[in-house]
Amino acid sequence: MNLSFSGHRPILAVAQGLLLSSALVHTAGAEARAAAADNGKPDAIIRNAKVITVDRDDRIAEAVALKGNRIVAVGTNAEVDALAGPMTRKIDAGGKALLPGLYDSHVHPLGAASSEKDHPIPSFASLNDIKTYITERVNTQKKGTWIVVRYAFPTRLRERRFPTRAELDAIAPDHPVLHQGGPAGVVNSKALTLSGITQDTPDPPAGTIVKDPETNEPTGMLRNAYSVLKGLPRDAYSDDGEPDSARVKDLFRRYNTRGLTSIADRGASGPALRLYRRLRDDGELTVRVNATRILTPPFEDRDKIVKKLNDLAGYATENEPNGPSGVGDDWVRIGPMKVFLDGGMLNGTAAMREPWGVGPTYQITEPDYRGQLFVEPKMLAIIAEEAARRDWQMTAHAAGEAAMDELLLAYDRADRTVGIRGRRWLITHANFTTAENLQRCVDLGVGADIQPAWLGLDTRTLLEVLGPKRMAWFHPYRKWLDAGLTIGGGSDHMIRLDALGATNPWDPWLGIWIAVTRQAEGIGVFNPDQKLTRAEAIRFYTINNARLHFEEHRKGSIEPGKLADLILVDRDPLTCPENDLKTTEVLWTMVGGSIVYQSR
Ligand SMILES: [Zn+2]
Repeated sequence: MNLSFSGHRPILAVAQGLLLSSALVHTAGAEARAAAADNGKPDAIIRNAKVITVDRDDRIAEAVALKGNRIVAVGTNAEVDALAGPMTRKIDAGGKALLPGLYDSHVHPLGAASSEKDHPIPSFASLNDIKTYITERVNTQKKGTWIVVRYAFPTRLRERRFPTRAELDAIAPDHPVLHQGGPAGVVNSKALTLSGITQDTPDPPAGTIVKDPETNEPTGMLRNAYSVLKGLPRDAYSDDGEPDSARVKDLFRRYNTRGLTSIADRGASGPALRLYRRLRDDGELTVRVNATRILTPPFEDRDKIVKKLNDLAGYATENEPNGPSGVGDDWVRIGPMKVFLDGGMLNGTAAMREPWGVGPTYQITEPDYRGQLFVEPKMLAIIAEEAARRDWQMTAHAAGEAAMDELLLAYDRADRTVGIRGRRWLITHANFTTAENLQRCVDLGVGADIQPAWLGLDTRTLLEVLGPKRMAWFHPYRKWLDAGLTIGGGSDHMIRLDALGATNPWDPWLGIWIAVTRQAEGIGVFNPDQKLTRAEAIRFYTINNARLHFEEHRKGSIEPGKLADLILVDRDPLTCPENDLKTTEVLWTMVGGSIVYQSR
């Protein structure tokens, strides 16, 4: 086995003292096992592996020793073998690659887990697929009941556009229909009449009922305006989902099959937190959860914002605080506070510096339309300042160019009044950046959670809509890293369960492959100078995400003292053919020293 040592430090690293304090051991069982082990010898040794440590120097080792829920030593086979006692279990890795468990920094597990509870949702490749689905619902559902097509992004349809109101009317004259692609979506005529929406209906706060420039009639396109629809089911546009423990456990098991051991729920409600804690207490959690808390509008004035922030950190029923950032344990930790600053790239609502441009993709009829900012800059600055005062780490959904501009201005103001450096404030999505904004991120110590699947699936349509010049800074991973900034990979998994069929596909190996190859569907390699190396792409889904959440001392790499969250995979992701990265098979997944998934 080739060992590569980039430093002169000895490879054998052993944790300070092998005794674990009971506070660090999550289950009584693990505690008992740790106490029973003889003379502090490791419980288990995984040997004969290519250990991709993801430590500071990206060192490669051969073996790892575990005790309780921790890694206690990393080194050569001989070095780690020497630590074994008579009771130490030896696991032969057969020369396969051992990596730290993967971390997805953006999922919506409750919404995704319950998204197919009524009926399976097909995947939509074209408008025809959507028509087929709606027709099937028309034949199944009672007249007058809502049919909702959720998160069907026009950027991913063959025709690269939303359906028109007339097209929806033709197939569903008697059912109200909403086809949403995020905060923007199209409704049919039945939905408009049922909701009493006419040319005289005023826009809701921060939303738009798009009207025909000539007739002033509603076109059916609604932007951040679903609140005007009457009787729309609660889950029509929400990542929330139900705290259905069986479905959530099943989803987490699925995550384990692809090597995920940690996730950031980017919008964890109170009921979600209660569910995670109950699963933790019952020893049934198989991924570690960092829980983002959402600060919900309206944001009217400073006093009301302060009250919202205080309420957000309030106590759940089991008397565990729900904030600020960092409270909790290794299983369920409170992460950043998040606000939704703008719309999205996949539905034409992201706040841009220049107009989106008139066209059918997003049914944009206004030449000067630049997307939507959901929070007034003045209020955003107050939110940032008061969040900093209350020790919240902050993030904001910022998809478009202008949203990132506004967010960094607000962060900068909070930095001047309260100070945010060292707090690792974040940008969620951060699809576009600029040299100036990257410099601001450096100055303020800001990182980002980014979704490579969008680069893979949406670049083709976005290029058509925005043109190559504006797309030059779309997902520029290399630029982020070269600036010394931390970006972490994630999926924004919202609906459907299948790793690749979900919206968005949550398979971390797909994300790693896209980050390495920059393969974009329909156009091939996009901006190859922004490719990540394989080692960087692995960091993107491990230590970088840990770092975004102040967890890099607990997980994200294979080093003594860290949690034994490990995966063994069937190929060497550092040397296998590039295109084989995305089909990497996980042989087993370990969380806290316990195997939670094993392939047959
Ligand atoms: Zn999301």
